[in-house]
Amino acid sequence: MASSTTRDLAGRVAIVTGSTSGIGLGIAKVLANHGANIVLNGFGDAGEIEKIRAALAAETGVKVLYDGADLMKTDAVVGLITSAEKNLGQVDIVVNNAGIQFVSPIEDFPAAKWDAIISLNLSAAFHATRAAFPGMKKRKWGRIINIASAHGIVASPFKSAYVAAKHGIIGLTKVVGLEGAEFGITCNSICPGYVWTPLVEKQIDEQAKAHNMPKEKVISDVLLAQHAIKSFATVEQMGALAAFLCSDSAALMTGTAIPVDGGWTAH
Ligand code: NAD
Repeated sequence: MASSTTRDLAGRVAIVTGSTSGIGLGIAKVLANHGANIVLNGFGDAGEIEKIRAALAAETGVKVLYDGADLMKTDAVVGLITSAEKNLGQVDIVVNNAGIQFVSPIEDFPAAKWDAIISLNLSAAFHATRAAFPGMKKRKWGRIINIASAHGIVASPFKSAYVAAKHGIIGLTKVVGLEGAEFGITCNSICPGYVWTPLVEKQIDEQAKAHNMPKEKVISDVLLAQHAIKSFATVEQMGALAAFLCSDSAALMTGTAIPVDGGWTAH
């Protein structure tokens, strides 16, 4: 049982989408250490996911469930929320984190990739928020955290769908922040620069191939070129910020888009 962290989220239930890997898993771990019961979601090897689930429950003493809902399907997003309400009693915190990326010049950008990215990176957050909102409103407490990106604030070429979805989610965050205000529900976006995760590792490989460049050069000249602080953010830093946004100290923060991007969007 973790003892160094306050258990200020004890009794709360948090759903973290896309939490079998990367940022989502990092956030789920921190929220569990703060005492929240957790619903993990995402894809991957069933045995590996069960290991992650059981280890997190054992380390933190909270309930940890797994729901493999495919969030590109509206009914499955709604099902993720209603199953958590049924199995854990309520949903207090939703972290809309699941996301995918595809990089291509716009004239070659496959239409199906556009649809998939908008569906997962933007529409799933809308459907989850819509489904969780009535319960949060009833209990007069809720925290919705959208994992946007520095690409929700600024653009890069070849990322049309991703940048559009991330700009969209910052707009959604503002609306939900306003609508939740009188019910004790806050909604904020976290806007990471580059965080070291499988999604980014995949991008490094793809860009290295596309530009015929060594991976080290892709990291320094392409990815971290925009960071004033030349390092990757960590999933633990994302978790710590999410926990802060769930805390009473952040009760007045809503509708925001918080960059954690090494100074990228300060340019
Ligand atoms: P990741 O690839 O490590 O994890 C993505 C998660 O989403 C996985 O758990 C995966 O199984 C899940 N997922 C994929 N498709 C799904 C679907 N249809 N239904 C349900 N779950 C699905 O990625 P990451 O780097 O941890 O990124 C997480 C979020 O953070 C994304 O929204 C991403 O855009 C955002 N982000 C990442 C970075 C970065 O540098 N890594 C920077 C800015 C924003």
